[in-house]
Amino acid sequence: MSDCLFCKIIAGEIPSTVVYEDDMIFAFRDIEPQAPEHIVIVPKEHIGSANEITGENSKYVAAIFEKIPAIAKELGIDKDGYRVVNNCGEYGGQTVHHLHFHLMGGRPFGWPAG
Ligand code: AMP
Ligand code: ZN
Repeated sequence: MSDCLFCKIIAGEIPSTVVYEDDMIFAFRDIEPQAPEHIVIVPKEHIGSANEITGENSKYVAAIFEKIPAIAKELGIDKDGYRVVNNCGEYGGQTVHHLHFHLMGGRPFGWPAG
């Protein structure tokens, strides 16, 4: 998608601080971190939101979740724990319409979410 912010970040057209990359997924530091460690993890294929996950593209979601333990360990947040968040659509607070998961750690998080 030529007008998608995260597609441009994946393509290197917009700079980011890359934390992890392979053939399927891309992880970079959030520009407005909500925690001491705040990483955005995205599929390299454009998927608009969680509403667009299918049997065809769910391998990207699996690839993201398979890598979360290693990324969390690399960030040093695995032992204390962390939060993984997906915001979907208007009520979910999604602002960038390319599926992504926030990986946040380095502080405790409350529950229930606001
Ligand atoms: P969401 O609200 O779930 O759609 O999350 C979008 C996230 O992308 C927000 O946490 C933003 O701070 C983050 N973001 C927006 N632009 C950039 C950028 N250029 N580099 C890194 N993170 C960004
Ligand atoms: Zn995109």
